[in-house]
Amino acid sequence: MARIAQEEIDRLKREVSLVRLVESQGVTLKKHGKDYLGLCPFHDNREPSLVVSPEKNLWHCLGACGEGGDVIQWVMKRQGVSFRHALELLRDGDHSPFTAPAHPAPAALAHI
Ligand SMILES: [Zn+2]
Repeated sequence: MARIAQEEIDRLKREVSLVRLVESQGVTLKKHGKDYLGLCPFHDNREPSLVVSPEKNLWHCLGACGEGGDVIQWVMKRQGVSFRHALELLRDGDHSPFTAPAHPAPAALAHI
């Protein structure tokens, strides 16, 4: 199997919207300052302790599990897949369950 280039990994980390990814998996996010808060799907969470930063495109849990990372770590943990499989799922986003429902692509992601 061909190796996935580092540039491709960096591009996915940059271009896949973590907020949209998380929301597309049924986690409701609420804006909180610069960040978004939601219920962490990785532990029994009653007070929202999942923090998603759209600015950094990173997430972390302030609660019991203390997990965190980027879009790739999110997919690995959420889907229980390997790093490579997570990359493939993100790269083939159009055919994956992560495709966001009806939001228009943010302008920042448009190719000029
Ligand atoms: Zn958690």
